[in-house]
Amino acid sequence: MDNPDVIVVGAGNAALCAALAAADAGAKVLVLERAPETESGGNSRFTAGAFRCVYDGEDDLRALMPDLTDAEIAGADFGTYTEGQFFDDMGRITEYRTDPELCELLVTCSRATMRWLQAQGVRFMPIWGRQAYRVGGRFKFWGGLTVEAWGGGPGLMDTLCRLARAKGVAIEFGAAARELIADDAGVQGVRFRQGGLTRDVRAKAVVLACGGFESNAEWRTRYLGPGWDLAKVRGTRFNTGEGLRMALAIGAQPFGNWSGCHAVGWDRNAPDFGDLAVGDGFQKHSYPLGVMLNARGERFVDEGADFRNYTYAKYGRAILAQPGQFAWQVFDAKVAPLLRDEYRIKRATRVRADTLEGLCAKLEDVDSAQALATLAAFNAAVRADVPFDPNVKDGRSAVGLAVPKSNWANPLDTPPFEAYAVTCGVTFTFGGLRIDRQARVVDVDGAAIPGLYAAGELVGGLFYNNYPGGSGLMAGAVFGRIAGESAGAFAAA
Ligand SMILES: Cc1cc2nc3c(=O)[nH]c(=O)nc-3n(C[C@H](O)[C@H](O)[C@H](O)COP(=O)(O)OP(=O)(O)OC[C@H]3O[C@@H](n4cnc5c(N)ncnc54)[C@H](O)[C@@H]3O)c2cc1C
Repeated sequence: MDNPDVIVVGAGNAALCAALAAADAGAKVLVLERAPETESGGNSRFTAGAFRCVYDGEDDLRALMPDLTDAEIAGADFGTYTEGQFFDDMGRITEYRTDPELCELLVTCSRATMRWLQAQGVRFMPIWGRQAYRVGGRFKFWGGLTVEAWGGGPGLMDTLCRLARAKGVAIEFGAAARELIADDAGVQGVRFRQGGLTRDVRAKAVVLACGGFESNAEWRTRYLGPGWDLAKVRGTRFNTGEGLRMALAIGAQPFGNWSGCHAVGWDRNAPDFGDLAVGDGFQKHSYPLGVMLNARGERFVDEGADFRNYTYAKYGRAILAQPGQFAWQVFDAKVAPLLRDEYRIKRATRVRADTLEGLCAKLEDVDSAQALATLAAFNAAVRADVPFDPNVKDGRSAVGLAVPKSNWANPLDTPPFEAYAVTCGVTFTFGGLRIDRQARVVDVDGAAIPGLYAAGELVGGLFYNNYPGGSGLMAGAVFGRIAGESAGAFAAA
């Protein structure tokens, strides 16, 4: 495209939301995406498409998902996820470090942004399988995460690409942004490399939405710390911090939790980067229903501290800190029907046995005698007087242990027993650029850099230490939309 008004760097969820909003503001939009088309869509394509958004009850959900039938509504207890609940979760989960302005925008714009996405043409549905257990014939939703895009991440990205193209947005694949063209008046364009050639493209505004630095082993070690070079990457191999480097080079202000990231339990034998054929299937998120053992045969976290949405993003770091950087998740047959789909994929590192002794002997690289002793002590510590209920924090704990289990504790007593080997899978990094309420990138002195906007993973300040599941896509959509609107208005001025 010649003479675009707005260049968007990246073609993930945040970028395409920005492209749609800028196009709606009347701008000619060019998207530069580093990946070839077959690998495009960034981390967003790897997701399940879950969005954390505010809803005050069934009416909001009906408006967002008009396909919902009366029978489906009657068969479900969706509860609510109010602004207050979302604020509370963001505060609690980030240990009250989340930036108040960014957090306020995320929370208060989430419902309107979902409606905007729906009006653009994105379809949503309830997360029946993963966020609700069927109890007494009704699905009860928990953890504040209720809505996902049709077709998950791949469906979301296909739809966003189609919608952007229908608005005249041009998408160049295999086009890696290298530098921002900038002078004292602000950002004037982007230098990029495509097909072995370096070219300049000029525009009135640039939106950076090209991800964090999770796929850059050297930066992971530099910022997250020793050992992080060895973590596996759950998603795209293309998010190597290029957008951050380009912006910092012209004086953008770094912001947020640069030593923090989202990291989960991920199959120990998964490839180094995500595999689109498997998507998020290498994750192993049902640990609240079992126990985790390290190489010494010891437990090391409270697996039932909270719903998995509120612990999974920090337990990858806990696994990385174990000897050999791995753990085994152990379950018995009682909870097997409740395990998430990802436990049934072919490429799972799984062992099975009819006795705990037999299982412990099969746990590769683990002190099996200590593992057996740990499981016996755990079994003896379970509060059998408290009923088990996976839909609520049931308080069925294992007490008197060096590492407690606060909820969903069940003795491992029903064969066959199963164990799954996990290591640390890094999802995305928390540190990024500082933006203001219009998603303008702010410089080291606190002034907005004219013509430069940012959205998505490379924005810092929202997440610290931990993360409430489903907030990444929501933040990308909220700030992508704001960045696109602002860039479009700036270009038109
Ligand atoms: C397996 C997995 C499951 C997840 N599940 C969920 C979920 O269900 N819900 C949720 O909210 N979040 C989920 N997340 C997190 C979520 O993926 C991210 O928060 C979100 O997708 C980030 O969107 P983004 O647009 O900022 O980045 P991305 O979607 O990663 O897009 C960045 C794009 O920029 C491109 N790029 C990089 N460098 C350059 C360059 N120099 N020039 C041009 N282009 C460049 C990349 O190729 C990529 O396409 C999951 C992540 C993973 C990995």
